[in-house]
Amino acid sequence: MKLSKLASEIAESPTFALNEEARLLRERGEAVINLGIGEPKNRTPISAILASAAKLTSGEVKYTPPDGLPSMKKAVIRYTEENYDRLVAPENVSITNGAKQSLFNILYSILNPQDEVIVIAPYWVSYNEMIKMCMGIPVIVTPEDGTFTPRFEDIERALTSSTRAIIVNSPNNPSGAIYPSELIEKIVNMCEKKGIFMICDDIYHKLTFDRNMAVPAYSFTKKDVENSQIIVVNGVAKLYGMTGFRIGWVIAPRDLTRVMSNVLAQTTSCVSPIAQSAAEGALNGLQSVVEALRLQIQNNRDVVMQEMRTFNGVRLIEPKGTFYALPDIRAFSNNSVEVSKFLLKKALVVTVPGKEFGMEGHIRISFAGSVKDVTDGIARIKWALDPTSPNEIYIGDKKMIRDWM
Ligand code: PMP
Repeated sequence: MKLSKLASEIAESPTFALNEEARLLRERGEAVINLGIGEPKNRTPISAILASAAKLTSGEVKYTPPDGLPSMKKAVIRYTEENYDRLVAPENVSITNGAKQSLFNILYSILNPQDEVIVIAPYWVSYNEMIKMCMGIPVIVTPEDGTFTPRFEDIERALTSSTRAIIVNSPNNPSGAIYPSELIEKIVNMCEKKGIFMICDDIYHKLTFDRNMAVPAYSFTKKDVENSQIIVVNGVAKLYGMTGFRIGWVIAPRDLTRVMSNVLAQTTSCVSPIAQSAAEGALNGLQSVVEALRLQIQNNRDVVMQEMRTFNGVRLIEPKGTFYALPDIRAFSNNSVEVSKFLLKKALVVTVPGKEFGMEGHIRISFAGSVKDVTDGIARIKWALDPTSPNEIYIGDKKMIRDWM
């Protein structure tokens, strides 16, 4: 079969592939623990359920404007004012099918073939594939070994005359790192000086722990949104645990918003009004749901750190936000794909190989699930890899003995 070369070269999403594998194993009755997917276990906030139910029962479920329902845009404008201290106009806002579509539409709207986009490792799996789908070239900046924060000099060094944008994801998936404010400030200044876009993937911006905060890039510019190089992406998937509603949004200058709106109109027409109403309900409802989720996730992070302390050989930089940890497993193997496969086979735990995030020798553990899953999952990983841990463990109701070391 003759297929598109470009499309055929796009990698499968490793997290979705692993999720499917875990689902099939569970269907067969296996006691799988999924530390792979980044999805909180909370129920949809009641304000979101009621708002979307009201939309549905109205029977008025039709196309919406391609850039979003005016009432949803209003909710995003208020969110931006409250959380970013920025007044934006409806013409600066576009509502999309998840933050994923936000990112794709931005890249599609700003890139010409062979344009370069700087991506900081460890990076979220989809950035590179999306850049390639838009005929661009990802240019990876990797932090010094043992850190998850890039040096500004290395970012500057990656600039060329073809650089169009840099993607900054802080708090970061997969490391949980929050980049220091000074670094964000330097990137803002660099982007303004060079006229390149700073795409801020802020999808985890309120999921920060202890006293750490992810300071918005907007804090470091005097320019208004219309004249700024900063593009902000956000959504309800992570902060409200509403992954299935598929709602994201972009704040950008109006010329870019107009082009993105045309891209969305010609590809997916608009975003489902039922989902938009749900997101509107979440944004306009009680914000204590976000804080409750944050506290639960912070507690899970503490459990991860405690369990990891007794894991001989593994090094872990404490996550400051998100719900991911990226332990360094090079004491056992440099091949993270092999390690993840081994953990699924022997210990029935799903993890994601660090290689997928541009950080070989690490595995990503999601701690978005229950404390029990996190505790049992890490116990199983220890049992499978660490020869100093007890060599017997219960997996489901089966007693397992480690017989490979
Ligand atoms: N950016 C990052 C860093 C993410 O981790 C994710 C989801 N895993 C997204 C964007 C996409 O979010 P959404 O589900 O709203 O498309």
